[in-house]
Amino acid sequence: MLNHPKYPYDIASIRADFPILNQDHHDGVPLVYLDNAASSQKPRQVLDVLDQYYRQYNANVHRGIHKLSEEATAAYEDARKKVRRFINANSRREVIYTRGTTESINLVAQTWGRTHLKAGDVVLSTQMEHHANIVPWQMLAAERNIIVKYVPILPDGTLDMEAYGHMLHDEPVKLVAVAHVSNVLGTVNPIEEMARLAHENGALILVDAAQSVPHMPVDVQALDVDFLAFSSHKMAGPTGIGILYGKRALLEDMPPWMGGGDMISTVTFEGSTWNGLPYKFEAGTPSIAEAIGLGAAVDYLMALGMEHIHAHEQAITEYALERLAEVPGVTVFGPDAGQKGAVAAFAVEGAHAHDVAQLLDAEGVAVRAGHHCAMPLHSVLNVAATSRASFYLYNTFDEVDVLVNALYVVKNTLV
Ligand code: PLP
Repeated sequence: MLNHPKYPYDIASIRADFPILNQDHHDGVPLVYLDNAASSQKPRQVLDVLDQYYRQYNANVHRGIHKLSEEATAAYEDARKKVRRFINANSRREVIYTRGTTESINLVAQTWGRTHLKAGDVVLSTQMEHHANIVPWQMLAAERNIIVKYVPILPDGTLDMEAYGHMLHDEPVKLVAVAHVSNVLGTVNPIEEMARLAHENGALILVDAAQSVPHMPVDVQALDVDFLAFSSHKMAGPTGIGILYGKRALLEDMPPWMGGGDMISTVTFEGSTWNGLPYKFEAGTPSIAEAIGLGAAVDYLMALGMEHIHAHEQAITEYALERLAEVPGVTVFGPDAGQKGAVAAFAVEGAHAHDVAQLLDAEGVAVRAGHHCAMPLHSVLNVAATSRASFYLYNTFDEVDVLVNALYVVKNTLV
């Protein structure tokens, strides 16, 4: 089915870009990689720039006046400009390199949060958040006596927008901290509307875009979000690098988080002054190769077109939901196709999620099992764990068929 008419691009040549996909998972059993929400695979275009950096111009950035350092600095800063274009930030100064979504959110909690939140203030999160968008606020709550509240979800897995409106209106909410796309339910939250309502009520909005930026066009100015966090490794880029986007005026106003080299303007024994944006938040030697690799990943995604990637994943997800619905005893959590990202978390009646994943693995299918760093959501769903198939730009309809056939094997073995 490799030339299925629904593919918006040449899927065979795309798959050829990802060397890891072309291997047996076990002897004679090809790999079907469906754990993309945890981490995506990387194309040779990204692997090549990592290799080139280390082989040809490895040096520290912003420091040396020799040619290698100049080349490294140019490539590192060029990647930042690519990310700026990719999310349509107003300025490259609004694009801060971090280690990933988790660090980006912690940075906001530790700098903006510590500066602007006082006892009794509310951070409004949701029941569908990843731990990365719950725990930093709970840590701040313990320190500052702020209150973290959670907007409930409806039975169909969407956010209860009526409750959101009430909570915004009735509580002293200073910050809304919400996922763009849930990593379990796949729910796509209406961020533009949520941002408008937050601002009308005097709150800022931070968006955890770990599961949206890799999969769909995201325009920070159109959404009018104040902060946006995402990770390179989920979008065909290397691990160890991610982005915090913030509106310039907010970032200017925030104190630095970590201190050290590069983030200062002057240092004396008596005290220090801070560098300008974005460097104020980038202490120490950064992940240079990884940033350049992220730039290459952005080039790759933009060449394919985020609209095409999104359309492809929507078609694959719709097909997966149809096929999974055929398997007796399989329940998929979250909204219907068309309303969700490329994620299908499911339970198999009578089987534990880990056993399901282990048997799928024996059939060559890599999925994730557990609570997917969303324990509170699983308690709302009233399940201990789920298995999760998640798709990316290179997955095929054939691979969905392999998953479904493997699930029948699982059921015959376990149930
Ligand atoms: N938020 C969501 C919705 C995620 O899916 C993830 C990763 O699984 C994260 C945050 C954390 O990302 P990272 O581990 O790259 O910091």
